[in-house]
Amino acid sequence: MVIKEVTLETVCGITSTLPENDKPEIAFAGKSNVGKSSLINALMNRKSLARISATPGKTQTINFYNINREIYLVDLPGYGYAKVSEKEKEAWGKMIERYLHKSTMLKAVFLLIDIRHDPSKNDKMMYDWILHQGYEPVIIATKLDKLKKSQVAKQLKAIRTGLGLVSGTTVIPFSAKTKQGRDEIWEYAESRLFE
Ligand code: GDP
Repeated sequence: MVIKEVTLETVCGITSTLPENDKPEIAFAGKSNVGKSSLINALMNRKSLARISATPGKTQTINFYNINREIYLVDLPGYGYAKVSEKEKEAWGKMIERYLHKSTMLKAVFLLIDIRHDPSKNDKMMYDWILHQGYEPVIIATKLDKLKKSQVAKQLKAIRTGLGLVSGTTVIPFSAKTKQGRDEIWEYAESRLFE
């Protein structure tokens, strides 16, 4: 995808009405600090349009980035941030559920997992939940550059097992630092966006 124009078009808070977009969307989910903003910036060739968090998990919004007036990248709020109250977590869950349920233009969901860690309970819940909403998420294993090469295959396997991935699920290792995996993610996204 050649990125010509990027705008942060809509920011939805917990009580906002979701936009009724008429262009295809791809969405990104993951726990806070997993590297979601860094990935979205890398996909858009922008240094810092998506916020890179000093205080992870603070902003509970769904952000819609309009790319080339053709498609939307949808940044879902990060989960698993310890300092968020139960009430806020519940509101967060409802907001994502509403989006996954209501969007008629959502073509693919990507779930981000830090390649260094085995998936957490929250990751597994998120994966199952996305499946339950009728989407088969593609997994992006983030921060690839932080892992020794010799450990990569083992950790990818741990992610598959830990999440209980449906067989045939695509897992793409990615580094925001080296941009390894970027082209593969776009290739996959485009195959779904324009099918
Ligand atoms: P978010 O909370 O999921 O949006 O995560 P951020 O994109 O804000 O990243 C969290 C932290 O991890 C930041 O300090 C990033 O610089 C760092 N980070 C994110 N992706 C990578 C990566 O691929 N490699 C390395 N080395 N650091 C990363």
